[in-house]
Amino acid sequence: MGKALIIGAGGVASVVVHKCVQNSDVFEEICIASRTVSKCDALKEKLDGGKTKIQTAQVDADNTEEVIELIKSFGPDVVINVALPYQDLTIMDACLATGVHYVDTANYEPPETAKFEYKWQWAYKEKFEKAGLTALLGSGFDPGVTGVFTAHAQKHEFDEIHYIDIVDANAGDHGYHFATNFNPEINIREITANGRYWKEGEWIETAPLEKKEVYNLPEIGPKDIYLLYHEELESLAKNIKGLKQIRFWMTFSEKYLTHLKVLENVGMTSIEPIEFEGQMIQPIHFLKAVLPDPASLGPRTKGKTNIGCIIRGLKDGKEKTYYVYNVCDHEECYNEVGSQAISYTTGVPAMIGAMLVMNGQWRKPGVWNVEEFDPDPFMDALNKWGLPWQESHNPELLDLDLNAKEV
Ligand code: NDP
Repeated sequence: MGKALIIGAGGVASVVVHKCVQNSDVFEEICIASRTVSKCDALKEKLDGGKTKIQTAQVDADNTEEVIELIKSFGPDVVINVALPYQDLTIMDACLATGVHYVDTANYEPPETAKFEYKWQWAYKEKFEKAGLTALLGSGFDPGVTGVFTAHAQKHEFDEIHYIDIVDANAGDHGYHFATNFNPEINIREITANGRYWKEGEWIETAPLEKKEVYNLPEIGPKDIYLLYHEELESLAKNIKGLKQIRFWMTFSEKYLTHLKVLENVGMTSIEPIEFEGQMIQPIHFLKAVLPDPASLGPRTKGKTNIGCIIRGLKDGKEKTYYVYNVCDHEECYNEVGSQAISYTTGVPAMIGAMLVMNGQWRKPGVWNVEEFDPDPFMDALNKWGLPWQESHNPELLDLDLNAKEV
């Protein structure tokens, strides 16, 4: 059917490439491009020889002109941005300049301030509309599948959705004292920021990891879950009409949190540049350099992830509860594509989003979040491409009022 340019060659990109190659009827040609071309070449070497033609290229995606040149020479139908959130705007600019659709998995963040907001990318809506191009934002798991799950619930289960709790659990064990499952800088910036949730039109702020609950997750069991701000809260609060409250929860082990606390206390998670041996460095960049590469965790990680949405609302005038989730096994992911489940659960939906843009099912001019499209083809594709979903109409519920008890 067409050609995709994949920017990035890290943990998530590796899964995207594997999945595009498996889906060769749609992805006839791909180009893998990143700063370090050897990583792209290694992926090509592993997967070359099938129906999908693979090229590689070196690109610094912070530089719009370089991306424009690459797009002009390769001629893709869509760019799948699985580099880092800092490159979102430069890549969107390059897509506009060349008339190519855009898909990513994480919202733009200015490198100098840890701030997760869609405002910079939503500001491109008119430009994409005028160009007749689709920009699909946040087509990973969370954001991504969590938005599709919500749109599915809205379409098939509820007349009105009132409360959403997104629960992201990782019960995987990689055997290291401390490692992050995806880019450490992005991961640590997310966790050390204040928590925030949305209630009745207001954002309510909490101290980092201040609110904790225990939730009994299917196939994983009871886990400590902590309230975090997560970027899909912003788009879902805007796009789901009638919503009263939305929160996001993530599991962390005590061991992980103890290490993180110490690193934070000694200043290693800071993004404030310091002088070190005559050079200015951000401590978090140094920390990233000494931590295990997330891509190396695959062969060591055992256990499962469970990510889903617990939803409450009304159907035919009656209160209703619904839980839709995916369970993913780290070892099965590794056996299939050589990556652990965190990269897998992000890379599969990125491929699906790009496929739906390419085949026209999710194509409309503008800048969109996943919940703004028909969820049905995406939900079907999740079952087909390795992330089958399950549902419960009688799930365990979380307390709606966090201040009702001491946590
Ligand atoms: P990695 O750090 O493993 O990989 C990032 C890749 O981007 C590397 O290949 C890196 O190349 C490349 N890159 C960085 N800067 C540039 C640049 N200026 N130009 C070109 N390439 C560049 O990250 P992950 O694979 O773990 O994550 C990828 C994305 O997925 C991130 O945006 C992350 O936030 C997002 N994500 C989304 C999730 C979701 O569920 N929605 C969950 C997990 C991740 P090099 O090594 O040469 O620097």
